[in-house]
Amino acid sequence: MYYIGNHVSSSYGYAAMGNTALKLGGNTFAFFTRNPRGGKAKEIDEKDMQEFLKIAKSNNFGKLVAHAPYTMNLCSSKEDVRQFSKNVITDDIKRMEYMPDNYYNFHPGSHLGQGTERGIEIIADVLNDVLSPNQSTIVLLETMAGKGNEVGGKFEELKEIIDRVLLKDKIGVCLDTCHIWDGGYNIVNNLDGVIDEFDKIIGLKKLYAVHFNDSKNECGSHKDRHERIGYGKIGFEAMKRFALHPAFAGKPFILETPNDDKGYTREIAIFKEWMEERGRL
Ligand code: FE
Ligand code: FE
Ligand code: ZN
Repeated sequence: MYYIGNHVSSSYGYAAMGNTALKLGGNTFAFFTRNPRGGKAKEIDEKDMQEFLKIAKSNNFGKLVAHAPYTMNLCSSKEDVRQFSKNVITDDIKRMEYMPDNYYNFHPGSHLGQGTERGIEIIADVLNDVLSPNQSTIVLLETMAGKGNEVGGKFEELKEIIDRVLLKDKIGVCLDTCHIWDGGYNIVNNLDGVIDEFDKIIGLKKLYAVHFNDSKNECGSHKDRHERIGYGKIGFEAMKRFALHPAFAGKPFILETPNDDKGYTREIAIFKEWMEERGRL
């Protein structure tokens, strides 16, 4: 079984997101839980949610990969930003329960000069405050490109966060192909080596989802600029090899490529062709 979809707009509600995903050929999708640059979340419309759940069920959708807003920075050096961020993640985890058993992905944070170690400590402390044994949602740390003060550009940093989190079954990782490539993990020339390293440091059982993006920049550039599949420095063949690697079989793959609907439809169709070639129906 395979799951593919893109990041869809959440402006028109949950049922609309499900229908958009279907229209583009997807069977999963990602969405922002609230305005990516803002703060306030729209009230959940129960009828809209019920309709979405019906669509997801009757079309055998895989796990959804919700995305926290970019304004959320759990390890900010500013007290008000930290408090805001904690409120956001608390509220988002609560809201995710309207659509049980899905994933909630976030950028670990930017330590803003406090140092990576301190950043890691703060992030883990917040997670220990906000995660609850009753939640069905698994919270995912995204692998980052290691731009500026970003925490999570190295597998070791994500591992350190996970080690400190008490509710281990509520925490996992979402691997972004553009980010790890930009972070210096060479998935073009050494895919098996990178996967081995991930497995040794974090453990493949902690990997729940993939952000499937090509990159505009070279390996190790620490830039984080996504490119359409096959048009970037990772390239078509390496993206295909990644998608077909058994380590990622059955995980939701989310496209965050710079595309319009036509472009997403095309990339989703290509991904499906790869999977069907391999009999991964
Ligand atoms: Fe992200
Ligand atoms: Fe991403
Ligand atoms: Zn990115």
